[in-house]
Amino acid sequence: MSDQNPLFIPGPTNIPDRLRAAMNVQTRDHRAPDFVETFAPVLADTKKVFATTEGTVITFPASGTGGWEAAVCNTLSPGDKVLVARYGMFSHRWIDLCQRHGLDVQIIECDWGSGAPADKFEAALSADKTREIKAVLVTHNETATGVKSDIAAVRAAMNAASHPAMLFVDCVSSLASMEFQMDAWGVDIAVSGSQKGFMLATGMAILGVSPKALEAMKTAKLHRTFFDFRDMLATNASGGFPYTPPLQLIYGMRESLKMLFEEGLENVYARHFRLAEGVRRAVDAWGLSLVAQSPDLYSDTVSAVYVPEGFDSNALTEQAFNAYGVSFGIGLGEMNGKAFRIGHLGSLTDVMVLSGLATIEMAMADLDYPIELGSGVAAAQEYLRKHRAALIKTA
Ligand code: PLP
Repeated sequence: MSDQNPLFIPGPTNIPDRLRAAMNVQTRDHRAPDFVETFAPVLADTKKVFATTEGTVITFPASGTGGWEAAVCNTLSPGDKVLVARYGMFSHRWIDLCQRHGLDVQIIECDWGSGAPADKFEAALSADKTREIKAVLVTHNETATGVKSDIAAVRAAMNAASHPAMLFVDCVSSLASMEFQMDAWGVDIAVSGSQKGFMLATGMAILGVSPKALEAMKTAKLHRTFFDFRDMLATNASGGFPYTPPLQLIYGMRESLKMLFEEGLENVYARHFRLAEGVRRAVDAWGLSLVAQSPDLYSDTVSAVYVPEGFDSNALTEQAFNAYGVSFGIGLGEMNGKAFRIGHLGSLTDVMVLSGLATIEMAMADLDYPIELGSGVAAAQEYLRKHRAALIKTA
């Protein structure tokens, strides 16, 4: 496996040289007076990525899973009811986490390949006359199936039911790569991480927290120590951290934010759409299908692709890795063996995407898939070259 080859897993993502260099700093004293100059602007600038002015950004040395836990433990009490739809491995894992914390989880089972069912949320919330549901949990971008959900529609459903529940959104594989509007969508807690759209090493859970969630924090009774918002907020207020911060990641985050703002968030989203569309043209040219059931659900950061009947997707990802040293995402949960995933998020160019498509085509040809070598690459090339000019004009 050469470290010259890009990764095509949907996170952790390729780390650009600029960010690797930014993280390569000597340890400094996080209790020294100058730490505030480094950390406070990072928290302030991250709010722009969440598109929140009202919310507060809170980070923990953790992965996205820690962010899920922090969201739940800081705002809910044992036995509280939460409403969640299960439509992939990550919504499933968040459900599991809630259950292990003793929450009463009302689950709406959905097909894998579908998205958050706003209509079913509205029905469940309208039926909840005694307002027992305290939070609705939604995975914005289900990384296991390549499905993007409509968070604005979920908020509209909650409003239509006039329900006071909080809205928690997992944006681990969408923030800083697909549009996210924390304030406009009425999100109370948004959970993300450093290793996907921010293009950094894993190790920082990044949360956007609304005033309403901070109010809920005051009466929440689930246990928390490491993930206690209160300790974090108390020390962040003076630019500090309640324990040892992941310093190198904070430096990385500072540079990542610079990179995102230099490109412009709108352009970052447009680039992800365009590269994703190139991948989707390739999938179509191979005669294969996406797991995502309809175009409105297509994720711009990951495409999950069904392999033809009689083929094993694990054999395909193994072949790509063993023969060419390139990683693609395996099928997770119900998708295991049935689908592979092409991650197309973070630091990625046309050239990188085309190399990934060429590689998976070679692996498919090695395993006698009924595809024509070059067909997917050519379809992606056609799309990418035709849409390059339009992108530059609007830039
Ligand atoms: N949520 C989503 C949508 C994810 O894609 C992931 C990881 O891939 C997680 C949560 C869990 O995050 P982590 O693996 O960083 O704990």
